[in-house]
Amino acid sequence: MDKTLYQFSVELIQQSRYLIAITGAGISTESGIPAFRGTNGLWSRFDPEVYASRSGFLSNPQKAWELFLHLYESLVDARANAGHIALAKMEKRGKLQCTITQNIDGLHQKAGQENVIELHGSLRNLICTVCSQTFNIKGLLLDSQDLPPVCNCGGVLKPDAVLFEESIPAESYFAALKHIRMSDVVLLIGTSGLVHPVNELPEMAVNHGASLIEINIEPTVLTAVCKTVFLKGRAADILDRFNCDLF
Ligand code: NAD
Ligand code: ZN
Repeated sequence: MDKTLYQFSVELIQQSRYLIAITGAGISTESGIPAFRGTNGLWSRFDPEVYASRSGFLSNPQKAWELFLHLYESLVDARANAGHIALAKMEKRGKLQCTITQNIDGLHQKAGQENVIELHGSLRNLICTVCSQTFNIKGLLLDSQDLPPVCNCGGVLKPDAVLFEESIPAESYFAALKHIRMSDVVLLIGTSGLVHPVNELPEMAVNHGASLIEINIEPTVLTAVCKTVFLKGRAADILDRFNCDLF
């Protein structure tokens, strides 16, 4: 990682009046949850068209549930890592105002963060595709022999997370926009910037005059477009180091 850029980032954070974070799957890889893209990404094993699109889910829920079960299994014991914990500390100290996440793993909350907008929902709840009743995952025993799980009305249950072809709940999106407009510094952490419409948020922040600090193991499509201060490295390492230098 470039030392000058790192030091510049620390100063940006110190001087910020309204710091927010946008996070993606990359912040959770060190908690043992694979990202979708990149080396060891889930897509190398599961075709998203089949497994994680609304039409794919409805035409073959049993197959889609193979992926969800796989995700649930990796999530049950997953613990927040140093990256989540560093953000939680920044929030508690009043430095970080809000975290907008695409993740569905709930690890920001496990680390103790309260101001989290889960733009893609979460895997905590299941929703019935017929009557919209919701169920907490904790109360259900999911068995690979017995997929897909069904509601007492007979409808198939789906994780209450946003699949491809589904829209982000308007309420969460507008809440995110509000923070984007208020932000003057944005931490962009572990996201490929390929998922719409979340990938529009960083550019909106730039257009409002915010500076973007990007933390990723490799540059992304957003690096050049948003002229980010790019810090190459693992989210857990860099965020942890920020905390040591900030507090
Ligand atoms: P993505 O899989 O498209 O990209 C992950 C990004 O993280 C890549 O740019 C990669 O280079 C980077 N990365 C990997 N390890 C890193 C590390 N240790 N430190 C910093 N960066 C690292 O992820 P996305 O942009 O979030 O889009 C994927 C979509 O899939 C999201 O909509 C999300 O809902 C869903 N998803 C969620 C989870 C989760 O909840 N943990 C996991 C997989 C996918
Ligand atoms: Zn139902």
